[in-house]
Amino acid sequence: MKISTKLEQAINDQIRLELESEMAYLAICAWFETTPFKGFTKWMRIQSAEEHIHAMKFFDYLNTRFGVVKLQALPKPSVDLKKPLDGFKVSLAHEQKVTASINSLYSLAREEKDYQTQDFLGWFLEEQIEEEKSVQDMIDRLELVGDNAHALLLIDQEAGNAKTMPASTVEAA
Ligand code: MG
Repeated sequence: MKISTKLEQAINDQIRLELESEMAYLAICAWFETTPFKGFTKWMRIQSAEEHIHAMKFFDYLNTRFGVVKLQALPKPSVDLKKPLDGFKVSLAHEQKVTASINSLYSLAREEKDYQTQDFLGWFLEEQIEEEKSVQDMIDRLELVGDNAHALLLIDQEAGNAKTMPASTVEAA
């Protein structure tokens, strides 16, 4: 069944938001590249790749529901970072925005009585719990250690081991 015009528009907006997150994480990654923190650099790079996969999941879903993907302009990422904690705070703000957006998408799918889209969004609702938790955990730890270089390097090392690069960023969902 063809997706409603309202949901088609909302999913196109969601694709833009996921791609915006991909760029934001890549910009944070670029800043980490200028620091000694190799683990945080890797973490942000992988996070960026994951956002691309999220965008493509929506891209593929819209196509299978006979909707039309219409890509939108992306804003230039504004990243003014002084320390690792700043990068993760920008990241958390993004994830909270994405969670709110997926929640509204779900509400719209309910209003439109589109059960398939509600089911499809289930994966994203769960994923956002995980995304916000992992970033918040990092913030808590970074706030605890402050400027202690030794502790920062330990957290950096753990961050580098915590994530693995997704198998493919181009494979269809
Ligand atoms: Mg995402």
